[in-house]
Amino acid sequence: MDEVRSSPSARLKNTAQKRPDSLHIDLLLAPENGLFHLNDLSENECDNSVNVSFQNISYYVNEGFFKRRKKMLLNGINGEFYSSELSAIVGPSGAGKSTLMDILAGYTTDNLTGEIYVNDNIRDLSLFRKQACYIMQDDHLQPLLTVYEAMTIASDLKLSNTLSRQEKNEQVKAILVSVDLWTQRKVKTQELSGGQKKRLSIALELLTNPQIMFFDEPTSGLDSVSSMQCIQILKKLASSNRTIICTIHQPSATILDLFDHLYVVADGSCMYQGSVKALLPYLEDIHLVCPTFHNPSDFLLEVLNGDHGSYNEVLLKKSQNGLNQNWRKQIKAIPIVQEPRTPSSISKSIKEVKSYMKRQTRFCSNSYSISIPSQVAILVKRTILIISRDKTLTLNRLLTHFLIALFIGTLYFGIGTDAGDMLNNIKFMFFSIMFLMLTSFNCITTTFPSELPIITREHFNKWYSLKSYYLALTFADIPVQIFATLLYGSITYLFTKQPIESFRLILFLCMCVLISLVAQSFGLFIGACMDVKNGVIFGPFCMLPFTIFSGFFVQMNACHPSMQWLFHISFLKYGFEGMVLSVLGYNRPNLPCNKEYCHFVRPDKFLSTMDMQESTYSAAVKFLLGLFFFIRICTYFVLKFQIRKSRGRRK
Ligand code: ADP
Ligand code: MG
Repeated sequence: MDEVRSSPSARLKNTAQKRPDSLHIDLLLAPENGLFHLNDLSENECDNSVNVSFQNISYYVNEGFFKRRKKMLLNGINGEFYSSELSAIVGPSGAGKSTLMDILAGYTTDNLTGEIYVNDNIRDLSLFRKQACYIMQDDHLQPLLTVYEAMTIASDLKLSNTLSRQEKNEQVKAILVSVDLWTQRKVKTQELSGGQKKRLSIALELLTNPQIMFFDEPTSGLDSVSSMQCIQILKKLASSNRTIICTIHQPSATILDLFDHLYVVADGSCMYQGSVKALLPYLEDIHLVCPTFHNPSDFLLEVLNGDHGSYNEVLLKKSQNGLNQNWRKQIKAIPIVQEPRTPSSISKSIKEVKSYMKRQTRFCSNSYSISIPSQVAILVKRTILIISRDKTLTLNRLLTHFLIALFIGTLYFGIGTDAGDMLNNIKFMFFSIMFLMLTSFNCITTTFPSELPIITREHFNKWYSLKSYYLALTFADIPVQIFATLLYGSITYLFTKQPIESFRLILFLCMCVLISLVAQSFGLFIGACMDVKNGVIFGPFCMLPFTIFSGFFVQMNACHPSMQWLFHISFLKYGFEGMVLSVLGYNRPNLPCNKEYCHFVRPDKFLSTMDMQESTYSAAVKFLLGLFFFIRICTYFVLKFQIRKSRGRRK
């Protein structure tokens, strides 16, 4: 009875019936980007089934202040998940379900020992990631896109360019109908209910017809009807020859019945692996009898929590940490009944192998469905769409710049013409720098962190490369920032009556734009480094030194020598110099004095008082441009690191 086959390969070999594809494939056919018909998939001619097994998986995290202490989250667990089965990883909260799922999905790859097999071969992670998708517990959807827009953009990103727009639209429609979202297609995702959001997350990933789908707590936060609907969709997906694995906390008895396979985890170890029906007999074997009319999953959790005594050691031993396969419904490695091999079926399999080779080459040369420039173009379009709907990023930003420009323009009205107002003019310029810096900085530090989880999900599910996203973000957001800055710059320039010379106006506006772009890049950097709360606290704090060393409060020569170098790295010093020079430099003639006494009639005298006699506009431009590119590149690497790090960390 207790025959335990330790190796997955041995196990599959011992299976009475061979897998139908065993003759010609241990090829893992990644699904073609063909048209999607949920119900037709079971009739797929080409068997793409993916069975996943894992052996002796242990995983730890580093804990403590110096991250020296190891905490084991999984302890050498084993198991198998087959295609065409709806499998559930169940267990009490904190048991290690999500941790195991992260590992199986390839989301977590560090601090890991043991082997993961896909169709009997050691998992090739890059290939596996193209066959699999991971739908996380939180949906992380773009809130401002409608269901249909989200789907069409995803179809553009995820489907091959060889499909026409119409074909893609048909596919989008078929999927939306199948997950019962077609009638909600014009609703923004932020307005969807929990269940609808979950179904949209599934629909988005179904576009590429993944063969294996991981779901972390797909029913959490849903009412019983939505939960049932969601699990029924998963069941339908499983019955079309897919491998569906989901973690679930405490399913109702009806939902539990829908599962083909249960994998029970507690304390990072496997307590049971087998069919739902065999669960109660399994527990009865060790004299744990579930009361009649009691939900088996509730009973299971009670047992695992120790409410009926301490049984976890016994269960671990009995399940042999997932090696014991005797409680499975059957060894179900045969998703499709094998037909007799007629000449036509043989030629078909030759075609399949050829088509596989073709696809394999394509996958090796390009891990995404479309090229990087196409990804950038689609993402720019998406970002523009989002920005145009995001009031904070557009309307409020433009309105703030416009209103403050009117206010400041009126406050400092006409000060640019009078020598007696030279100091006021400088104050106006310094205020402008501060305003431009803070608005562009804050706008991005507060909005960008909310994007991070969405990028993490989409990037992990192979929608696009991080480079493409980053370029698109840069291209799409910069124009809005530039426009807002130009609005502010030109209104205040005219109101304050700075010299009406086009080259001075252009230099002034260029400097405004450069300052805001550098500040925006700093904001992005801070936004990529920390969450909104920390960004709001530490962001302005990080900008403070730049302000002090801008040359407005204290000039470099007046400052203690040990601190003078700080002026050379303050971008506000360069911005301030550039702005002052654009108005007062370039041999500006003496200013008229309409007061009794004007100290600064000669602009050059004023520049030397401000310690700017040797400064040049071009040096300011070079510094600011250089800094802009430097921060943007640094931010890219921080983003890359953050996305990697967030994959090793459960939130
Ligand atoms: P669940 O079964 O509820 O999905 P998880 O897999 O998320 O549980 O977590 C398993 C256990 O690991 C929990 O006790 C959790 O507190 C712990 N854990 C997860 N990530 C970390 C981490 N980065 N550092 C320390 N403990 C962690
Ligand atoms: Mg979890």
